[in-house]
Amino acid sequence: MQVIHFRRPPGHPKGRPVEAWARERVLALLGGAPLRRDLLVEHLHRIQDAEGHLSAPMLAALAAEMRLSQAEVYETATFYHHFDVVKEGEAAPPALTVRVCESLSCAMAGAGALAERLEGSLGPRVRVQRVPCIGRCDQAPAVVVHQCPVAPATEQAVVGAVASGVRDCPLPEGARPAEATGAVAGEDDWARVRALAAGRLGAAQVFDELDAAGLRGLGGAGFPTGRKWRIVAGRPGPRMLVVNADEGEPGTFKDRWLLEREPRRFLEGMLVAALAVGCEACYVYLRDEYAGVRAALEREISALLAAPPVPLPAIHLRRGAGAYICGEESALIESIEGKRGVPRLRPPYVAEVGLFGRPTLVNNVETLVWVSHILERGAVWFASQGRRGRKGVRAFSVSGRVRQPGVGIAPAGITLRELVDEHCGGMAPGHELYAYLPGGASGGILPAALADLPLDFDTLQPHGSFIGSAAVVVLSTQDRARDAALNLMRFFRDESCGQCTPCRAGTAKAAELIGRPNWDRVLLAQLSAAMADASICGLGQAAPNPVLSVIRHFPQELADPRPAA
Ligand code: SF4
Repeated sequence: MQVIHFRRPPGHPKGRPVEAWARERVLALLGGAPLRRDLLVEHLHRIQDAEGHLSAPMLAALAAEMRLSQAEVYETATFYHHFDVVKEGEAAPPALTVRVCESLSCAMAGAGALAERLEGSLGPRVRVQRVPCIGRCDQAPAVVVHQCPVAPATEQAVVGAVASGVRDCPLPEGARPAEATGAVAGEDDWARVRALAAGRLGAAQVFDELDAAGLRGLGGAGFPTGRKWRIVAGRPGPRMLVVNADEGEPGTFKDRWLLEREPRRFLEGMLVAALAVGCEACYVYLRDEYAGVRAALEREISALLAAPPVPLPAIHLRRGAGAYICGEESALIESIEGKRGVPRLRPPYVAEVGLFGRPTLVNNVETLVWVSHILERGAVWFASQGRRGRKGVRAFSVSGRVRQPGVGIAPAGITLRELVDEHCGGMAPGHELYAYLPGGASGGILPAALADLPLDFDTLQPHGSFIGSAAVVVLSTQDRARDAALNLMRFFRDESCGQCTPCRAGTAKAAELIGRPNWDRVLLAQLSAAMADASICGLGQAAPNPVLSVIRHFPQELADPRPAA
């Protein structure tokens, strides 16, 4: 056998040589920004925004400037859906991308047919991509033209947006919108922050108030907020605060809705958390699909920093890059550190070893909005909102076959039937309730017969379901639960980070099995058990839930010769 030895000439750097033009271009685009490793994803965005893609010479030049290996930069760039890495010899993508959401609510609203029509009508100079949820399920079918949402989208509206050359759609400047959660807008946006800084409000008082309110994390996990804050505050400093604004769960759009309407409420909740827990920096990780919210938040943060009510911790707004798994807290932290968003093994938990190795408090946007309200209006006010013995109020994202999809601010313990009737104007004309997803893609599917269960943490588990981030998708008798399960399993297959085999291979196998007319119950149960027991993180562990729901609650659908929708 012939053995070939590759030797680098002495003094020659590893990997692809850096081309002078690429180095100049990278330096111009970075504009003197720091070259820290944790800014890698931000720098990739700058290049992608300007160039429309990431070429091999540009990646090599960026690696050299940041003193990273080319492999580290390449593996990070190729991990995220929103970075277009163009390999040697490949053509660059068209300058304009139209993203058509094909997740459940949009699929039910005809996204597949819309994508086909757009592929035909937009021509080769525009790229049409079918993408997972873009956080506008209430306006399905939803499309993004470059970074501008067109929703609800028609072929005509998208063609018009493309023809007009639209690229960015920030929220309009102007008056502060009325608060969505029903509070009277405070005269002093930062009253609780000032009280904490002045010592008129103590950290222990804040923790006690959150305990009394019964506030739990509203990103999905439902961990008691006061207890989490105490745990992190009890760890040696310096401590970090990370805000998870990456809501990517299909069916979830409430954090976008709240940030559009109550950005100062959110910022006040964030600052209260940072001051009470003693965090030296706040990192807000916002999903890339929310370009308008990003622009609005940048404005609010700039105004806050220009006239700080108290000495503030550092505030960083970080941009996701299209990876659902970055909603998982340790994957999100990896992404903020400039790496692939791959979940960490636990223990240690992020409260002990989190961002940059520091004890880290991770909270969701909605949780922090309610923190501000609770401290203004009191724990009793919040706790007394629930129905059927449950505590509190929350933002339900409701989409699917209802007359008025949208966010409903409703009491914990409300039932699906009440939510649809009181907040959504009833079912859509011509549709009769058949099933619903109470907690997005991973929360399972329940039949109409269980539409009178109280919706809250811990109430749905006996039925193989959970509320998660309260992303409610309503199906009618014109839908099939098995089609929903297939749509969701394809989503998990595409979004698995690939780190562990039960999830990477299991989601692909499950999608193949449930695409068949006759479901093999025994094989699917075995596969689901392996995924739930052996996957590293919640994505793989919960991915079988929709399949198990169909087997348990919709046995009439297990054999159906009609093709998958
Ligand atoms: Fe990645 Fe899936 Fe494993 Fe989570 S369960 S670490 S998403 S492969």
